[in-house]
Amino acid sequence: MLFDPPKCINCGKEIEDGEQVYAKLRYPKRKGFTEIKAYLRNEASFLCESCFEKKD
Ligand SMILES: [Zn+2]
Repeated sequence: MLFDPPKCINCGKEIEDGEQVYAKLRYPKRKGFTEIKAYLRNEASFLCESCFEKKD
C-alpha cells in the first residue's frame, strides 16, 4: 500500500523509514483495528527527532 510520507509539523521534513519520530494522536476508540498506518496518517501529528530535541 502506498501512503503519503508523513511530515514533521514543525519543519515539514518528510519522515523517513525507520526514523524515530514523536507523534501526537488520539488513542483509537475501536478495539482490534489493524490499519495502524492509515490511522496514524489520519489522526497523528508528527515531530521529527531534531525538532523534538530543539524544543525546550
Ligand atoms: Zn522537524
